Amino acid sequence: MKVAIVGTGYVGLVTGTCFAEMGVDVTCIDVNKEKINNLKKGISPIYEPGLDELIVKNMAKGRLSFSTSLADNLENTDIVFSAVGTPPDEDGSADLQYVLEVARTIGQNINHYILVVTKSTVPVGTAQKVKNAINVELEKLGKNIEFDIASNPEFLKEGNAVKDFLFPDRIVVGIESQKAQELMAKLYKPFTLNGHNVIYMDVPSAEMTKYAANAMLATRISFMNEIANLCDKVGANVSNVRKGIGSDTRIGSKFLYSGIGYGGSCFPKDVKALFRTAEENGIELKVVKAVEQANEEQKLILYSKMKAICPDLKNKTIAFWGLSFKPETDDMREAPSLYLLKAFSSAGCKIRVYDPIAMEETKRRLPDLQNVTYCKDEYEVTQGADALLLLTEWKEFRLPDWKRVKENMKELVLLDGRNIYDGNELKAMGFHYEGIGIR
Ligand code: NAD
Repeated sequence: MKVAIVGTGYVGLVTGTCFAEMGVDVTCIDVNKEKINNLKKGISPIYEPGLDELIVKNMAKGRLSFSTSLADNLENTDIVFSAVGTPPDEDGSADLQYVLEVARTIGQNINHYILVVTKSTVPVGTAQKVKNAINVELEKLGKNIEFDIASNPEFLKEGNAVKDFLFPDRIVVGIESQKAQELMAKLYKPFTLNGHNVIYMDVPSAEMTKYAANAMLATRISFMNEIANLCDKVGANVSNVRKGIGSDTRIGSKFLYSGIGYGGSCFPKDVKALFRTAEENGIELKVVKAVEQANEEQKLILYSKMKAICPDLKNKTIAFWGLSFKPETDDMREAPSLYLLKAFSSAGCKIRVYDPIAMEETKRRLPDLQNVTYCKDEYEVTQGADALLLLTEWKEFRLPDWKRVKENMKELVLLDGRNIYDGNELKAMGFHYEGIGIR
């Protein structure tokens, strides 16, 4: 089977590499020449545990190749996956220009039956737009070539993407024809041998499933953040509350952690896009709107806590442990740290930061930010700090040498944005400790 993946980002590269790992002949395509040139040398553009090894291995086996041209890679191809970006438009709706550009290129260049699968997260109705765009190009050329469209939203988590793809909980596939279902069943068979199932449905339902899943997860996070903020006020401990409710099988224990708000490339934009889709259809998703509003405020919760401890922050030195929106990724899209960096910088603070992977990307995103020092490790960053803020729970921050941290710091304020530390231990050492919903 021959597959082309268009868009070699977090999703496309992981998808293509994992299909190749199962023996499929894969070409990953991207318009970014630098990305493709580096990949041809085995250099991955992203940090994702386990991915680099699989890329190199499958290139060596001749099953994985890279190209900048979709047109040159349609011949003999059975399935084309579109995994290009769908960033938010100015009004929050998903920008489909890349998805439709791919569709037009397919329409201009196919000469045989092909299955066109949208893997990007796209609003309901997009697969139909893809179909129309291909048909328009075929009509222009006077060609009558059979093709199918399908929707196959991706549920991988950055930082665990390879494992998520190789061992999926479920695979959602929206199809319109028997032929498309058979092709997808063949492609995904190796991933389902251990019992995980492919759920087939109509295309609009598959498109909606992705948004509903992300909105539900974002809702759990914002809900727990609000409960945590209330716990702070009333003297309850959110960790106990989480265990108490998570043990209810109707609720379940996952995604009930409070923190500094969700970020990343998916939840913020998908929540906004779902809200826009509803508005366009004359419906207001009140819960989804509130989820987003609560998250916007939560991203600055550590700044508010710091202001309550020290109203005049001018010239204070604030140390950050972690910058990426979650561990094991260098993705800084919508990371709460970006909001906190700007807030503390505007307040006249000196900011010292350390992240094992995401510092270069932070510099690229905030090149003009004043008073930021990028440090070499988790101890250097605490030198002379008036407060230490844990933003990302990278493993190397989980069991630090607190004595060393204490010696380095000027004032002993520790704000734990991920609730991973033992507050009692830290208080006994003289720290002012606050978590999110834990004191
Ligand atoms: P990304 O920005 O990392 O990668 C997108 C790639 O597409 C870029 O490399 C870009 O150069 C390329 N591209 C754009 N137009 C192109 C074209 N015409 N031809 C070829 N390449 C083109 O994006 P991503 O994070 O991989 O996300 C892709 C899609 O998958 C989005 O819709 C996203 O919402 C969805 N998704 C992402 C994740 C995630 O964790 N990142 C998870 C599930 C779903």
